[in-house]
Amino acid sequence: MASLAESVSDVRPTTGADAPGWQAELADAIRDPVELCRLLGLDAELGRRNHEAGFATLVPRPFLKRIRFGDPTDPLLRQVLPAPEETQGAEAPTDVVGDLAAEVIPGLIQKYHGRALLMASPHCAVHCRYCFRRHFPYENVAEIDATWSSGIEAIRKDATLSELILSGGDPLTVSDRRLSRLLDWIDGIGHLRRVRLHTRLPVVLPSRVTGDLLSLLCGRNATIVIVVHVNHAREIDEEVADAFGRLRECGALLLNQSVLLRGVNDGVETLAELSERLVSVGVTPYYLHQLDRVAGVSHFEVPETTARRLIEDLSRRLPGYAVPRLVREEAGAASKTFLA
Ligand SMILES: *Cc1c(COP(=O)(O)O)cnc(C)c1O
Ligand code: SF4
Repeated sequence: MASLAESVSDVRPTTGADAPGWQAELADAIRDPVELCRLLGLDAELGRRNHEAGFATLVPRPFLKRIRFGDPTDPLLRQVLPAPEETQGAEAPTDVVGDLAAEVIPGLIQKYHGRALLMASPHCAVHCRYCFRRHFPYENVAEIDATWSSGIEAIRKDATLSELILSGGDPLTVSDRRLSRLLDWIDGIGHLRRVRLHTRLPVVLPSRVTGDLLSLLCGRNATIVIVVHVNHAREIDEEVADAFGRLRECGALLLNQSVLLRGVNDGVETLAELSERLVSVGVTPYYLHQLDRVAGVSHFEVPETTARRLIEDLSRRLPGYAVPRLVREEAGAASKTFLA
C-alpha cells in the first residue's frame, strides 16, 4: 500500500495552472484586516490596529460577498474581523476542552466511546475569531502524513471504534489525492462504519465541492457524515445550498453545528431563521455549542441562563428536529455535556 508520507507539499494551497479552482480561491483569500475593511466600505481604522493576537486574519472571497457592505456590526463580519477584545484576557487557558490530554498519539484524539478524531489538516479556509483551536499547537502535527499512518494503525487495532472523525483545522483543505488515499485506508478497516468530516469549506468556499470530491466520497463502505458549521442564516447563499445538495445526492448525511456567539446569533429570531434555512437546504441542526473559554474570545460569550432560555424559546416555535442540542465541551467528560 502506498505510504501517505509521499506528499506533504500539497497540503498548502497552490496557484499552479492545473490547481483546482478552490485552491486558487483559497490562495486569494483576504489576509489583511485593513483590506477587509476597505473592501466592505468600512473605516480602515477598524482594521488598522492589529488585534489578531497570534491568529491571522483569513477570509475567503465567497464569504466576503455575503457580508453586508458598510455595516460594521454585520454578524458575518464579526466572526472574521479581529477585535480589540482579543488581546485582553491573555491569562485565560488555551486548552479548555482537554484535547491535549486526550491525545492517543499526536493528532489523534479519543475522548468518547466508539469515535476517534483525527486531525487531518492544520489549515482552515477561514479564521473564525472565536475558535477554540486558535491556540492549538499544530506545529506538533507538522509531520501530518506520519501522523496519519500511525493514527490509522492505532485505529485499525482498536475494534471498539465504529466512527472516525476527520477534523483539524479543516479536513477538506487537504488535496483530493491525499483525501482519497486516507479514505481508502479507512474503508479497509472493517470496524469503521462511519467517517465523519467536520468542515466549514462547503460554507466558506463552496467551490471545494467539485465533481472530483463527490466521486471520491460517494460509494464508500463507510457511511459519510458531514458536519458543516454555519452560525447565521445569511451564510447560506445559493452557491452554498447547491454544494449541500450535491453532497446529499452522493448519500452523505448533513448535520450542522453552530457556536452561540454574542452579536452574531444570540437572538431567538436569528436562531429560528438559521434552523429554517438549514432544514430548507437539507441540513439537520445538530449542536449549538456554548463557547469554549480560551484566551481572547470572552467578548463572544453568552451566559448559560440566556442560552437555555433561547433554546426553550426556540423549542416553542420549531419542530423538534429543527432545534439543535445546546452543549458544552468539558475536559474529561464521557460525552458533550447537554445543557438543554
Ligand atoms: C465533539 C467531539 C467528538 C464528537 O462528539 P459527538 O457527540 O459524537 O458529536 C468526538 N471526539 C472529540 C474529541 C470531540 O471533541
Ligand atoms: S473553520 Fe473551524 S477550526 Fe477553523 S478557525 Fe473556524 S471554527 Fe476554528
